[in-house]
Amino acid sequence: MRKVYFDHNATTPIRPEVQAVMAPFLSEKFGNPSSLHWAGREVRAFVEEAREKAAKLINADPSEIIFTSCGSEGDNMAIKGVLMGNLKKGKHVVTTIVEHPAVYNTCRFLEKFDFEVTYLPVDNYGMIDLDDLKKAIRKDTVLISVMYANNETGNIFPIKEISKIAKEAGVIFHTDAVQVAGKIPLDVKELEVDLLTVSGHKFNAPKGVGFQYVRKGIDILPLISGGHQERGLRAGTENMAGIVALGKACELAREEMVVKAEKVGALRDMLERGILEKVPDTVINGHPERRLYNTSNISFKYIEAEALLVMLDMNGIAVSTGSACSSGATEPSHVLTAMNLDPLCSRGAIRFSLGYGNTKEDVDYCLDVLPPLVEKIRKMSPFYKK
Ligand code: PLP
Repeated sequence: MRKVYFDHNATTPIRPEVQAVMAPFLSEKFGNPSSLHWAGREVRAFVEEAREKAAKLINADPSEIIFTSCGSEGDNMAIKGVLMGNLKKGKHVVTTIVEHPAVYNTCRFLEKFDFEVTYLPVDNYGMIDLDDLKKAIRKDTVLISVMYANNETGNIFPIKEISKIAKEAGVIFHTDAVQVAGKIPLDVKELEVDLLTVSGHKFNAPKGVGFQYVRKGIDILPLISGGHQERGLRAGTENMAGIVALGKACELAREEMVVKAEKVGALRDMLERGILEKVPDTVINGHPERRLYNTSNISFKYIEAEALLVMLDMNGIAVSTGSACSSGATEPSHVLTAMNLDPLCSRGAIRFSLGYGNTKEDVDYCLDVLPPLVEKIRKMSPFYKK
């Protein structure tokens, strides 16, 4: 059976070039970069080389890059670290209702410790109103955290405008860029963000490694205390294989970004158009223009998304319902709920996310297989009258 992977927002395959550079660090190059002897010396330079490549991806200074284990760690580090480092200023955070759980649940957790959080609402397209943001800022607001792009809809938020508002108000600004790093050009100097979170496995590096941009001069305390690694901001012996792999993935992403965006974007558009043409009662969720080129969240009315997911899986096609991290839970996606979608739409929402390795044949196969499956499920629905 043909296997088609349309779930790149959940994770991506490791590229062979990335696997090749990490392999020696899983065998002969086993040293601890903090060790003074030959085994340590042999690997130390590779950490700094990877840091330079990570910095280049977002136009930062290498000294502003902290290696982490994943996007969730980065989000926790940014939010908890900045709040703990600025307790004298206040205990208020502004974020959005549609953040990934790595941000959303971190904020919920902090509420148990007397921090106050304002969750900005979104409109039917899943976008925030910048006037709401301005109104939410208080004297004791320490941090604004707004994701760069939403993992479920692909919506891209106006990060430059938000950072301007934050700057004028003297508030630190963090953005979770997990879904955009490696996909679109990022320039922290131009964006003027203070902290930015990246996860390696979303752009063809392995799981278990990511990085955090922390602008010079930002007051932040470490989430993980211990040794002096990562300028004392993230203790723990370095994940050498992961860090080297992440460096390579950053380099490849930078070199190939434009071509990849054109290719993957064309495939996504072809898939989206094909589905809308071939399957009646379908709606695209998210903003019509301000959306990531690889993501398509489509509601198939009169079906349960899980039923379609299972049937697509039986035909070798991997997609997701809502956020992959919450798959298995039957509650409707908090993002689609916040967008106030008709329940007929939110129940039948499927996310297709394309990326490295996808081909026109994958799209053609999906457009052959999908319409009859939707028809079959709808025939079983008491609400479907056609
Ligand atoms: N933030 C966003 C927007 C995500 O999509 C994800 C993962 O899906 C994360 C954070 C968490 O990243 P990780 O899986 O590396 O912890």
